Amino acid sequence: MDTLVKEFLAKVESRNQHEPEFMQAVQEVAEAIIPFIEQNPKYKKAKILERITEPERVLMFRVPWLDDQNEVQVNRGYRVQMNSAIGPYKGGLRFHPSVNLSILKFLAFEQVFKNSLTGLPMGGGKGGSDFDPKGKSDGEIMKFCQSFMTELYRHVGADIDVPAGDIGVGGREVGYLFGQYKRIKGEFTGVLTGKGATWGGSLIRPEATGYGVVYFAEDMLETRGERLTGKTVVISGSGNVAQYTAEMCLQAGAKVVTLSDSDGFIYDPQGIDAEKLAFVMDLKNEKRGRIKEYADKYGCEYFEGERPWGIPCDIAFPNATQNEVNEEDARTLVKNGCICVAEGANMPSTPEAIQVFKEAKILYAPGKASNAGGVAVSGLEMSQNSLRYSWSRDEVNNRLRDIMKEIHQICVEYGTEEDGYVNYEKGANLGGFVKVADAMLAQGVV
Ligand code: GLU
Repeated sequence: MDTLVKEFLAKVESRNQHEPEFMQAVQEVAEAIIPFIEQNPKYKKAKILERITEPERVLMFRVPWLDDQNEVQVNRGYRVQMNSAIGPYKGGLRFHPSVNLSILKFLAFEQVFKNSLTGLPMGGGKGGSDFDPKGKSDGEIMKFCQSFMTELYRHVGADIDVPAGDIGVGGREVGYLFGQYKRIKGEFTGVLTGKGATWGGSLIRPEATGYGVVYFAEDMLETRGERLTGKTVVISGSGNVAQYTAEMCLQAGAKVVTLSDSDGFIYDPQGIDAEKLAFVMDLKNEKRGRIKEYADKYGCEYFEGERPWGIPCDIAFPNATQNEVNEEDARTLVKNGCICVAEGANMPSTPEAIQVFKEAKILYAPGKASNAGGVAVSGLEMSQNSLRYSWSRDEVNNRLRDIMKEIHQICVEYGTEEDGYVNYEKGANLGGFVKVADAMLAQGVV
């Protein structure tokens, strides 16, 4: 089996050189899928794996804009339309200086499996730009978004490709992007999700990824007769996903002791309560400040340039970005008694870290399963836009709860090993794959 995996990866690598993040995502999937394909030759014969690892389309474009000094700036824009077998391309936009084709291909690839797991009719895509929103004025953000959409509009649409947010793209950016799309096309449609609640957005969308990852962790814990109540929780990140993970952990009676940003992390052994969380939300969403200010205000420790994995915890939520948990971090987490790692970010654990979690037989969920709540509620936003109707908070939240339960169930179904250990990584990859692969089989060689 190892040889088959190696041969396959060598072939993919030869077509995708210098794309380490994409290869990392493909390797994880290939290791789970190839043994399954060997037992199910119909997928092998139709070269599903060869096709699913090749984007249907990749768009790259120039994004010129004028900064506040009237200087011309140039960024690169992307949209990777990875797979549309089960629905229009769907996935966020990331604005961050690290963005390149490898990162967007890995994200789009993950999105295909994640979106399939939600049970909703969404294909997979991802896009973004190397534009750095940090330190930019509101006017600059608007001009950039308008220029970005002036090219992107011709490639997206409510039944074609529906972008949303990701790192560096939140409600403000979706607003500017939507405004420009509407102006160019002269139509009000659900071309983006994550819209404001008064103009076509869904209630619970801002909360969805964070709430969803906590729901998923609760289901994982339940398989071992455990609960979140009373547990100590370590969270990385302090953006949208981290904020609502913290909120739901608080509601469940757990103690959240860390948050981070790209400069460092804060450690609050007392626990981040509702008032402190409101401070973080205002700091990050309105003032766009740094997490260090939390430590200054509440007099707790701040660890510059470090990640929070050395803080002893029961449960860890890596909610910042890819490859933020390495092998050593994973060993530290396990050594300190961590029993559950649920990823709110996309691919935050390196393959070596995942190996450590699996060998220790702790509960480990890959982002494509545990962070699917965000895109799931995006799917529900699309449904509401098509209905020209809005559901209540409870209606959306109950649907989100059910979807996360169902994803957990799929992981258990496809991922339970002989000794009873649930390999959520394998379960998520197989469960996500089968639906897309069957759709590809049915639709012929396209
Ligand atoms: N960027 C989010 C993700 O990684 C959300 C995508 C969406 O809502 O389309 O799933």
